[in-house]
Amino acid sequence: MYKSQEELFNLLSGAFNVKLRLINKEYNYIKKIDIWNYLKINKWCKAKNLTLSEMVNDIINITIDELIEKFKKYNNNEKDIELIRRAYDYAEKKHFGQKRISGDDYILHPLNVALILTEISADAPCMAAALLHDTIEDSDATKEEIEKLFGSEVALLVDGVTKLNKINFTSDSEASAAYQRKILVGLSEDVRVIIIKLADRLHNMRTLDVMSEEKQKKKAKETLEILTPVAHRLGIYKIKSELEDLSLRYLKPDAYFDIVEKLNQKKVERDAAVSKMMDEVSSLLKEHNIPHEIKGRSKSIYSIYNKLAKGKPFSDIYDILALRVFVDTEQECYIALGLIHSKYKPVPKRFKDYIAMPKTNLYQSLHTTVFGIDGELLCVMIGI
Ligand code: MN
Repeated sequence: MYKSQEELFNLLSGAFNVKLRLINKEYNYIKKIDIWNYLKINKWCKAKNLTLSEMVNDIINITIDELIEKFKKYNNNEKDIELIRRAYDYAEKKHFGQKRISGDDYILHPLNVALILTEISADAPCMAAALLHDTIEDSDATKEEIEKLFGSEVALLVDGVTKLNKINFTSDSEASAAYQRKILVGLSEDVRVIIIKLADRLHNMRTLDVMSEEKQKKKAKETLEILTPVAHRLGIYKIKSELEDLSLRYLKPDAYFDIVEKLNQKKVERDAAVSKMMDEVSSLLKEHNIPHEIKGRSKSIYSIYNKLAKGKPFSDIYDILALRVFVDTEQECYIALGLIHSKYKPVPKRFKDYIAMPKTNLYQSLHTTVFGIDGELLCVMIGI
């Protein structure tokens, strides 16, 4: 047996030949999860040719050009692009020489915050403000100077985020959490201030492993109690569910890594599996001239955790990957079901007809679970 976790770790890291920074990151994980979980997860990582840190935490070394490429996918306005580039140049100058605790150049943080915002198609002032969001707090930049250089809209957003960051949110009860959510929303005259704050927190949560365990737990708790409910109310589910997953990872690491191991897939892979099924089901329905709309999602680790916490065994969770199909008539619901069952083998006893027998809340749809692409279980709901 190994004498200590450290000894085992040295052995493993030697075998993996990973970079020094990654080794430190992995060592942080080992301290948090028990050795057997670590070995199980590591076996899987090796099979997938990933390091542990890559699996849980994508390290993104993005440049301004790459960021602008992402922005251009939904906005090609030259003036907007110029504003973003100028904001970057200014922030880069102001943060020059500053490092994050991880050792990364500081500018990578605002770049990543802005990158997160491209995923929800944020506008140019919001992107510029994201790049500038820490300049007032961490350099000699002032609101006046930012206003002069980038206009009052950007200056108000940067100032708003700076003000929010000064508040130390801590909650010891649900009542105080609710109160602090109110403060957070009330302080932000422009909703984009909260959105930047959420993206800021998301990047900080993604890179939280360099912090002390005490700080990790505190941040994770605050995120879960104060920020995710606000993200939920704003309807920014993408940010909300990643924040929840990351919070869980620090608050209940054993439970989190246990689910990660059982899922045996990264979130991006699960999302890809769902979107592949969406395409297949959609063309199947098109072939038979059934007008439809399809939405898909893969269940977050946090919501799986909540199901397990209610006593449900993992093997009974059938909706890790799910599709929601909307058609025009009741009859088409049954036709769509027949088509789906004829192409994908249904799982026995998983079919429910809430059209013939509506739930008490009048919810009407057909539920089934099928073996999708590569035999992966997929829950399908068909309704009007
Ligand atoms: Mn920040």
